[in-house]
Amino acid sequence: IKKIAVFTSGGDAPGMNACIRAVVRTALHFGCEVAGIKQGYQGMIDNNITEMSRHSVSNIMQLGGTILKTARCLDFRTPEGMQKAYDNLKLNGIDALVAIGGDGTFTGAERFSGIYNIPVICVPGTIDNDLYGSDFTLGFDTATNTVIEAIDKIRDTAESHDRLFFIEVMGRDAGCIALRAGIASGAEAIMMPEKDTAIIDLIKTLEEGAAQKKSSSIVIVAEGDKNGGAFNVAKKVKETFDFYDTKVTILGHLQRGGSPSSFDRILGCRMGFAAVKALLRGETRKMVGLRSNEIKLTDLKEALTDHEFKLEEDLLEMATILA
Ligand code: ATP
Repeated sequence: IKKIAVFTSGGDAPGMNACIRAVVRTALHFGCEVAGIKQGYQGMIDNNITEMSRHSVSNIMQLGGTILKTARCLDFRTPEGMQKAYDNLKLNGIDALVAIGGDGTFTGAERFSGIYNIPVICVPGTIDNDLYGSDFTLGFDTATNTVIEAIDKIRDTAESHDRLFFIEVMGRDAGCIALRAGIASGAEAIMMPEKDTAIIDLIKTLEEGAAQKKSSSIVIVAEGDKNGGAFNVAKKVKETFDFYDTKVTILGHLQRGGSPSSFDRILGCRMGFAAVKALLRGETRKMVGLRSNEIKLTDLKEALTDHEFKLEEDLLEMATILA
């Protein structure tokens, strides 16, 4: 392998820059050239590709987002789009790829690599923590910290006004952020897709709190919760439980941004370092993951098949007991 290209694709996540930096510096260390592809697969198709040096990744470790930018690209799903992307890689002398993104990015990488026989290693970069093969994904820790900070602030006003807040957090189909942020902020209840909570049971919990003269309550609602989001949950609760003044906060995209936590910086470094070393060992179509604090590779095909996603059982159990 003479030249490795790195790109970020799908949603941005804190820690992606640490990973880009690690890829660039590890590859240079082992005698490879490095290119950065801007805006993911779109940049591959548009030939939006730049040479990377040690200097081009200086001072980016602490930055959220991704210096290579990211995009969602429909054209890459077509044979013509893939051919254009491949032609541009050849034009730039690129013979291996490191792709940082979520399962869509992995699907594209696995197809592309299969058709054109170009080695690719993927890094799980998404705040949702919803990928098989890694205990944690890049960005999840930072996003959870951001959510906790926001909930703490909302708690101040909830407490001062004796209010009930429904706070909606990201995570798509997974409740990882909701569960951890809920436990860490002492939320009274957590609604998430992995654990059906009937509205009637939620009301019971809130009534018990009110009977104990709780002056405020916080309910975390994962965006993928089957009751249909925080506004819907709040509306349904209010129909029969009107003890508190009720407010809804959707945290939204602020959860995506911000300087990465130490955990995500180190994870980004480890995964980027491991991805390049894997390519140089001749590995391909694998995902780098962290399992039991060790870097492990998983076949992309295996990572992409349907797995039942499991939240930590102790966390699930303590969520109601400690609330
Ligand atoms: P996130 O988890 O943040 O959504 P993601 O990687 O899953 O990240 P997607 O938008 O689903 O985000 O996928 C990123 C890109 O991967 C798509 O815009 C598209 O270019 C490419 N991609 C996704 N699925 C395929 C596919 N079946 N074939 C080819 N390319 C694909």
